Formats: sequence, C-alpha cells, structure tokens
Amino acid sequence: MQVVPASGTAKGSDTMFTGDVYVDVIASGQAPSRIRVNSVHFTPGSRTAWHCHAVGQILHVTYGIGVVQSSGSDILAMRSGDTIVTPPGEWHWHGAARNHFMTHLAIWEAPESGDESSWGELVRDEEYDQQPNA
Ligand code: MN
Repeated sequence: MQVVPASGTAKGSDTMFTGDVYVDVIASGQAPSRIRVNSVHFTPGSRTAWHCHAVGQILHVTYGIGVVQSSGSDILAMRSGDTIVTPPGEWHWHGAARNHFMTHLAIWEAPESGDESSWGELVRDEEYDQQPNA
C-alpha cells in the first residue's frame, strides 16, 4: 500500500482546452494497471477540444452543470452525479455549461500500445452555443 500525496493542480493547455480549465491527476496506474483518473475543473464556458480515447472514457460529474457532445449528435447536459460513457474512438468534447462551474472525474485506460487520446480542433463558439439552456 502507498499513500500518494496530492499532485497539485495544473492549468489545462490552450491546445486542448478553450477557457480556463484545471486538472488534478488522481491516479496513473503502474503496469500492469493502465488506469488513469483525473479530476478536471471547468470554469463557466470552458471546454475540451474535440478528441477521442483509444480505450474509451468514463466521466463522472462531481460538481455543477456541464455539457458533452459526441460527433454527429446533439449536445447533452450533464449534472452532478451523472456518469457518461464514451466508447473507444468516439470523437467528443466536454465542458462546463455557459453559466456554471463543472467538475468531473475523467476515468480511462491507456491502450497496450499507441496514444491514449487523439486531439483535434478546438470547439468553436458557434458549436458550443448549440447547447440546451442549463
Ligand atoms: Mn473525453
């Protein structure tokens, strides 16, 4: 057993996020574990860029109100307590609702080889603004 001290909070990069987003690494499993867990704090209106995960991703909202969209689908609201499952390779983005903070746990696994995630374009305001009122 090992007690791992808090990692500290890092600001999300401008190439992966729009707006101010802060990331705490909660867990990064040592082989044979490939688990990854981050707590991600989104300020109102902030969001990830379009991206996908090689082994899929589970999001669990721990605070606030957010939005999530898969390519080709409508933007969905997500609230504290909700869990969102994204299949392997499905392009999507997630973030805070317009006027709300949102924190989620992001839970995923590294693949046996290759990149954990692939990153694309930032989510334009015109895309983000298609969300339901929250
Ligand atoms: Mn994701």
